[in-house]
Amino acid sequence: DKLFSGFSKTRDNLAVIDELLLYWNLSETDRVLDELEEILLVSDFGPRITIKIVESLREDILAGKLKSGSEIKDALKRSVLDLLTKKGNKTDLQLGFRKPAVVLIVGVNGGGKTTSLGKLAYRLKNDGAKILMAAGDTFRAAASDQLEIWAERTGCDIVVAKEEKAKASSVLSQAVKRGKEEGFDVVLCDTSGRLHTNYGLMEELIACKKAVGKVVPGAPNEILLVLDGNTGLNMLPQAREFNEVVGITGLILTKLDGSARGGCVVSVVDELGIPVKFVGVGEGVEDLQPFDAEAFVNAVFS
Ligand code: GDP
Repeated sequence: DKLFSGFSKTRDNLAVIDELLLYWNLSETDRVLDELEEILLVSDFGPRITIKIVESLREDILAGKLKSGSEIKDALKRSVLDLLTKKGNKTDLQLGFRKPAVVLIVGVNGGGKTTSLGKLAYRLKNDGAKILMAAGDTFRAAASDQLEIWAERTGCDIVVAKEEKAKASSVLSQAVKRGKEEGFDVVLCDTSGRLHTNYGLMEELIACKKAVGKVVPGAPNEILLVLDGNTGLNMLPQAREFNEVVGITGLILTKLDGSARGGCVVSVVDELGIPVKFVGVGEGVEDLQPFDAEAFVNAVFS
């Protein structure tokens, strides 16, 4: 399984846990939990989550609820799973009832926005939806060429800027208008990759959001933030910034087929309360999977 081939780094770190817990006994609880804390920290879980997990394990051990190393390991996996699957978090796409549904794909450059958009188009088209792509990355010249390749590959229509240096918001607005007139089910909007610290580009993102909402009330239905699975702890400030500016409704984690680091994902989901909706596990059309929290936990803590 492609997901399982990722996380090798995290898994190597976490493999120590098994050995640690094998020799656990009640008198060694403090030492074992201190070591577990270290391991979770180097695996990018971040201090907040790490303390939360370790303290809840300590409580359950002292209350006599966990009596063996394997029970502790199971409890550890369960608490990570609970953090990843918050109540009320919808992990499937929420496309509403008005047509077309509009999905904005946002994120920093190189994270996998365009690729994820292409793969998502393929998925939705296979489910029977009529998909229109919108090349809203007007900042980088090659970006719309790249999206056009995906349009061809997936057999989807696409709207690109007619003139050079077109405003992203006007391209997206045109696309959603066309989507409405021609009965498309979903308009998937690419946006330009930006540093989350670049204020001007963040402003543009707000303009994009407003522009599509003027054409279809309630749009965009989803604003998906694409995060490169290899980003490490920097993922959290990135997600925080995008969320504050436009309000993120879901995450797409990419490159989980590489040596992605799993821990920080848990921090993002826990702190921002935003669900992971899809994971990217390769560069092919079929390499986007709905997020499966249990498979994720099993891949990380095998
Ligand atoms: P953008 O700048 O955010 O639009 O990023 P791109 O979609 O251009 O992707 C950047 C690079 O990452 C490209 O070479 C993609 O093929 C690659 N990429 C994207 N998603 C994945 C993934 O899930 N797995 C792997 N292995 N590569 C990916």
